[in-house]
Amino acid sequence: MALPVEEWRRCAARCRAALGPALRERLEAAPLGEALRLGCGLLRPGAEEAVALQRLCRRASTGKEPAAARWYRQEGNRRFGRGCYGDAALLYSQAASHELPGSPEVSLCFANRSAALFHLGHFEVCLEDIARAQSHGYPDRLLPKVLLRKVECLLCLGRVQDAADALAAVENKIAVDGIMTGPEHQTLLKKLNQLKLKVCEGESCPEPAREACGDAQRESEIWEENDSISGASSSLSLKFNAEKGRHLVASQDILQGQSLLKEEAFVSVLCPEEEESRLLQDSSEMVWDAQVTNADLYCHRCLKQLLASVPCRGCSYAKYCSQNCADTAWEQYHRTECSLGGLLLTLGVFCHVALRTVLLAGFSEVSRLVEKSHNDDEDLPNTKARCKHPSEAPATRTGTRAIPGCNDNGQYQSSYRAVFNLLPHAEKHSPEHKFLCMLSVVAICRKLQEAGLEAAILNRESSEKGSGPKACEKTSDELSPELQIMAEAMLRHVLQLQCNAQAITVMQELGSGDGAVVNRKPVRLATAFFPVLSLLNHSCSPNISVSFSGTAATVRASQPISSGQEIFHCYGPHRCRMKVAERQQLLSQYFFECRCQACLEELESDDKSVVSMRNSFCCPSCQALMQGEDVLCCSNEACAHSVSRESLSRHLRDLQRQIKQALELLRDSKADEAIKMLLKCQMDAGNFLSPEHLLMGEMEDHLAQVYATLGKWQEAARHLERSIQIVETHHGPSSVEMGHELFKLAQILFNGFAVSEALSTIQRAEKILTVHCGPQSTQIRELQEMKTCLLELPRSILQRT
Ligand SMILES: [Zn+2]
Ligand SMILES: [Zn+2]
Ligand SMILES: [Zn+2]
Ligand SMILES: [Zn+2]
Repeated sequence: MALPVEEWRRCAARCRAALGPALRERLEAAPLGEALRLGCGLLRPGAEEAVALQRLCRRASTGKEPAAARWYRQEGNRRFGRGCYGDAALLYSQAASHELPGSPEVSLCFANRSAALFHLGHFEVCLEDIARAQSHGYPDRLLPKVLLRKVECLLCLGRVQDAADALAAVENKIAVDGIMTGPEHQTLLKKLNQLKLKVCEGESCPEPAREACGDAQRESEIWEENDSISGASSSLSLKFNAEKGRHLVASQDILQGQSLLKEEAFVSVLCPEEEESRLLQDSSEMVWDAQVTNADLYCHRCLKQLLASVPCRGCSYAKYCSQNCADTAWEQYHRTECSLGGLLLTLGVFCHVALRTVLLAGFSEVSRLVEKSHNDDEDLPNTKARCKHPSEAPATRTGTRAIPGCNDNGQYQSSYRAVFNLLPHAEKHSPEHKFLCMLSVVAICRKLQEAGLEAAILNRESSEKGSGPKACEKTSDELSPELQIMAEAMLRHVLQLQCNAQAITVMQELGSGDGAVVNRKPVRLATAFFPVLSLLNHSCSPNISVSFSGTAATVRASQPISSGQEIFHCYGPHRCRMKVAERQQLLSQYFFECRCQACLEELESDDKSVVSMRNSFCCPSCQALMQGEDVLCCSNEACAHSVSRESLSRHLRDLQRQIKQALELLRDSKADEAIKMLLKCQMDAGNFLSPEHLLMGEMEDHLAQVYATLGKWQEAARHLERSIQIVETHHGPSSVEMGHELFKLAQILFNGFAVSEALSTIQRAEKILTVHCGPQSTQIRELQEMKTCLLELPRSILQRT
């Protein structure tokens, strides 16, 4: 997903293999700019690779298709009829994204969606959609129905006077349009009269929707900003040495849970779903389905969760939380990206991030830094000693080499300069990878030239250069000098991303949200550059935790850190999730060998890693631990049972498939069957998995979920407690995973009125989640609401439990 699709990777590899040895060697040795110039000739229009790429892009179509719009709207109506309003709203959004702006069809989508939102209790958003329908030319004859919905919404929001005014407007409209006939109009009139009564009584709905509360008092944490690192706490300082590169160190003792860094992404790009299958079907047999992806759930620009998305005017892919976000995105980058949708999906998120980075930076800043990097390469020794870091001790200050990425005052800011100075490790990437990245960047630039978008990119910042439509006269073999500069920066960014890409993850709520227990799983939302966060080195046993809100990251100390210690982030391979060999393998993409405490300990001791012990197979006949590589033998000598790893792995995959089926039963409201199936899986698993295997925990977790949907809170709690034990052995008692599990348990105990247990679980969850997500996070707020609610219960109930 980060990289281009498989077919394009193979195509680029074939192209490289077909090159003469001389050219291939030249390409390998060439600096980025030179490599791009050479590569440009390889992707001429009409060349085999160009044709293949074009075909791949068509599969990932992001244009507007009326047939798709019709399908989504009908499917939306079907779900609406069944009372699945959440699904219906999403489908109407899909439909809207395929209609032309300002068309009556798109206004129908908005009007339908407003009805779904009304049923979901999102009255404010419903009003927005009604206004949207009207502004997109909603048919006049249908208007009364929608306007009555508006009256109802206003009533539910307690805005009685507004409701009365709106009502008067509908009455007026009906009077002007003349007497209505037919059954539909009869019901309309009946509704009108009902509402009139309600308005007269000044009645408002008993329970106004809980929306848009919160943001009011966000920052109550103590925070002192660092003078020289933007967004960082004053308790950190930036250091640099040959061995560690740039890194951050505690300059004073840090408490557990203290915030250390708050940074807005310099650039972020929403990731399409893991399964690319939907986007990459052959267009000849295009089928639409109601599956939703990140692009349907989150704003294309700010990553806010979408309720009533505003579609892009040009494509069906980009959807926004508001018109404002849509306009800003268009202005900043999307007018360039919009027609490139299919290409960008084909080339992967890294290429997309690279393009958006240069668009956000602007041509003049990009060309300044690219040119400066050429000069720096020419006279390396002199130019670097300019940046002094104020917090360096005087003795080392003169001797310290400048810290790259700092400005002339020695400040490190979250700016394009900082992004540009992240290490691309150009010499360490494999020649194949570099070639693929180069060819992909050339493809983007070719497309920009072809689509006549070049002027738009360059004009924005460099009107003085007066670059007219001269691009058209260029021979098709080369890029214009300006585009060549943009391409060079983009290639640099693609290479940087391998080591510096930061995933933005959120805890996504699963299911339709009607259950009393919210089940969340972490999902990767976007890929981003965070130049300050990038200063942190990796450890498999980090001392911080990162959480995200929209495109902003917050770093907190997950344990006390004493002055002088380095701050460590985990790039992915965590000691609790993988054994040392796997971690080292994964970390090789960052071009270093991890020498963190956890790795050293595991490498030195001959013991089997704890992870592999916990996630191991056990003997089908005596339940003792199985040992070995390809053939596993029972560790109990008296038993001596042996079996191939392959057959146990197959068994495991079967089990996972059955668990998935059980969850599908649950989704179809067949809870009893789901329970039966999960219990069967559990029995089966007990025969060949160790009792601490993560999958054992997952099954307990699923069982808890099913019982919760049935309102059987005690059973649910019992299963969840077992899942919690397993999570604790794997991730540790104060891990964020533990926090999420305890949160679920708190909800279950709360619903089951197990007051004292609920209160103590809330306290445990609160303690852990505050450290990882901060005191202002949604989950902490929900825990506090539960606590308040429990404490306000009448004494009589409290005593009964
Ligand atoms: Zn937005
Ligand atoms: Zn678009
Ligand atoms: Zn390590
Ligand atoms: Zn055995």
